[in-house]
Amino acid sequence: MPARVKHTTGPEETEAAGADLAGRLAPGDVVLVSGELGSGKTTFVRGACRALGVEGPVTSPTFTIGHVLDGSPEVAHLDLYRLGSLAGEDPALLEDYLTPERVGFVEWPEVAEPTLERVVAHVLLEHEGGDRRRITVA
Ligand code: ADP
Ligand code: MG
Repeated sequence: MPARVKHTTGPEETEAAGADLAGRLAPGDVVLVSGELGSGKTTFVRGACRALGVEGPVTSPTFTIGHVLDGSPEVAHLDLYRLGSLAGEDPALLEDYLTPERVGFVEWPEVAEPTLERVVAHVLLEHEGGDRRRITVA
C-alpha cells in the first residue's frame, strides 16, 4: 500500500480512518498500530472494528495480550505493551490470536515485529497538539 497521511481533529475522525483501512482488509491480514500512549491506537482500532461489525466494547487488552472480537471476520486485537520481550514465551502465543481466519490489529508491535507474518499495513499515530493527530498508513 502507498503511504497515506491524514490529520484528524478528534476521535471520531480517527475512528473513521480506522474504518477506511478496515474496508481494504481480508482475513489473515495483520495491521501494526504504533504510537505513544494516548495517541489514538485503540481509537483507530475501534473504528476498524466497528466497520468489521464488532458491536461490543473495544478497549486495550490489559490482563491478557489480546482479545478476540466477534466481527465479520473475527478480529484479534493485541496490545504487547506489557510483554517486554518474546524471549521465553511460547512461540504459539501470538499465533493463537493471529489466525488466517481473522483480521489482526497489534498495538505496541515492536517487540514482536520480526516474528509477525502477513503484515499488510503499518499505522503510526502521532500527537499534533490538543485533539489533533497525524496518522500515517503505510
Ligand atoms: P492509545 O491506544 O494510543 O493509548 P487511545 O485511543 O486509548 O490511545 O486514547 C486516545 C485518547 O485521545 C482518547 O481519550 C481519545 O478520545 C483522545 N483523542 C482526542 N483527539 C483524538 C484524535 N484526533 N484521535 C484519536 N484520539 C483522540
Ligand atoms: Mg491502546
